[in-house]
Amino acid sequence: MNDDNLTRRKQKTRPKAANVEAGRETGSIAAPPVRPSSEESFRCPCLVDRDELLSLIRHRLPQPIRQEEAFGGVTTIIAGSPGELVIQLSDDTVSIGIYAIRWDGPHTPVEHPKWLGTLNWKNLPEPDLSVILHSFTFIGSKLRTSQYRTCERCGEVTPPEFMHNSNTCQGCAERYLGVVH
Ligand SMILES: [Zn+2]
Repeated sequence: MNDDNLTRRKQKTRPKAANVEAGRETGSIAAPPVRPSSEESFRCPCLVDRDELLSLIRHRLPQPIRQEEAFGGVTTIIAGSPGELVIQLSDDTVSIGIYAIRWDGPHTPVEHPKWLGTLNWKNLPEPDLSVILHSFTFIGSKLRTSQYRTCERCGEVTPPEFMHNSNTCQGCAERYLGVVH
């Protein structure tokens, strides 16, 4: 008899306890109740999808833009001529880098970006993503173009990989100084 009464009392009090646990009464600590199949309805409208992010990125890059799709779903964008910035976009991440060349031989330039950072973009609201991308691309462009030099002989503004030394471009070094690259 006593055991039965105890069981009945427990059952009676359970709904109230559940309400407190769900945070409806205190409302401060407990997470909001999760409804089944509600993931989509909780998705903030300020989040972007991959296509929207791509257009957001392309919009703020120096022109012209060269875009390549690699096997595995990675999009690479090289912006500027001469190259200024490199962006790599996957389903989860976006990486921003400064365009750079590595010479694998006297006539073999290989694109070899200096990466500034990688973001997990999926959970970042568009306004924040926009600010971060702007900062990275602005800094990257500034760092890259600050390396350009004006050749004293031909007057061409030249990126560092095509300078012979700090004041003569490779073309002029060949033409006027007899240098063979
Ligand atoms: Zn020159």
